[in-house]
Amino acid sequence: MLRLIPPPASTSRVVALAIALALPSASAQTDDALLGRIDDLVADVTPRVVEYRRHVHQNPELSNREVETAAYVAAHLARLGIEVETGVARTGVVGTLRGGRPGPTVALRADMDALPVTERVDVPFASTVRTVYNDIEVGVMHACGHDAHVGMLMGVAEVLAAVRDDLPGTVVFLFQPAEEGAPAGEAPAGAEQMVAEGALEGVDAVFGIHVTSSFEVGELKTRPGAMMASADDLRIVVTGKQTHGAYPWGGVDPIVTSAQIVTGLQTIVSRQMDLTKAPAVVTVGRIDGGVRSNIIPDSVMMIGTIRALDDEMRAGLHERIRRTATSIAESQGATAEVTIAGEYGYPVTANDAALLDRMTPTLQAVAGDGFDPAVAPVLGAEDFSYYANEVPGLFLWLGIRTPGADRELFPPNHSPLFRIDEDALPLGVRALAHLAVDFLAGDA
Ligand SMILES: [Zn+2]
Ligand SMILES: [Zn+2]
Repeated sequence: MLRLIPPPASTSRVVALAIALALPSASAQTDDALLGRIDDLVADVTPRVVEYRRHVHQNPELSNREVETAAYVAAHLARLGIEVETGVARTGVVGTLRGGRPGPTVALRADMDALPVTERVDVPFASTVRTVYNDIEVGVMHACGHDAHVGMLMGVAEVLAAVRDDLPGTVVFLFQPAEEGAPAGEAPAGAEQMVAEGALEGVDAVFGIHVTSSFEVGELKTRPGAMMASADDLRIVVTGKQTHGAYPWGGVDPIVTSAQIVTGLQTIVSRQMDLTKAPAVVTVGRIDGGVRSNIIPDSVMMIGTIRALDDEMRAGLHERIRRTATSIAESQGATAEVTIAGEYGYPVTANDAALLDRMTPTLQAVAGDGFDPAVAPVLGAEDFSYYANEVPGLFLWLGIRTPGADRELFPPNHSPLFRIDEDALPLGVRALAHLAVDFLAGDA
């Protein structure tokens, strides 16, 4: 409802109110004056969001090692008077901001981990951090933009804390570790573990944003239903019988058998899946066996990834991969041991269609023509899926490519040259803040 009596006069508030009144109402329930104040606060916090993002960028930490990042976030939330819980899912931080009015609970999520990538971007705040990962000395870099996610959510916390008395409900800030997958032996981790430790208790809906160079600054995109794929690690060990390379009949050749399996796996998606329903992918990423030209080895190991956008297809892929690998091996007199599991088995990230419908006016109000409610799905994966499997969830892409810039200048996530046009950040802050208050107001 429109509040007809404006708050005590201050020029910026009056201007903001005028702007808010000129825009289509973001939600029938949210007080437009409150939205105007939020927009003023977003403008005010933007330089600090850039600062937070750069600090985190310069001090990246790998999955489940986000100790300093968590401390930085926790201190910030505590300064704002937000209840803070640390050590959730090892290094996660959960902040709870209780509004001055009764209402539902909404969660906003940021992931905090960086990647074993050596930064090659020429910025003053570039990472020089190095580590040893999988026995290889390598740099550590926020090559997936989680630094921006942390910076933006710290900004949102600041904005919403400033209007807490007028919030009709509770906002939970989820700063989670290990989105990129935990080190060996530390699963379950990340979002899965946050959920297991009760981070979503009492939460009615969850929102999250991921930055992407696929889209330009000002663009905000999502879709109903499956938006990102499930990702399952595949491991196949083919065992034959060692023999001399000149006398293959004296053994069972696991290399030729593996070659047939790799080819056979490719007919699962192309010949056995209903691709009119959704796309799927089976990739073998590594194949390892043998030592020299004239020795047929005992065994070959291969690993790969399985991607699907539909739970039934996911299960169907698993079953057919097992059948294909073991049957081909058997036909050659070899055996194939198939393991589909691993620590990166994220479910499909599916947005709640009713929640998207409900929040569409909000997203149109914050992004205007930049909002796209029907973006194509991707076969990348996200552990936001664990939250969205628990409560209605909505995940959004935020464009970070300078409008009109050469795509080459903005390589995809995980590149050592991954960079962000920081002009993108205020839209992310504004979108999360508006989603939170409009959701709360709608249910109050
Ligand atoms: Zn990533
Ligand atoms: Zn990411």
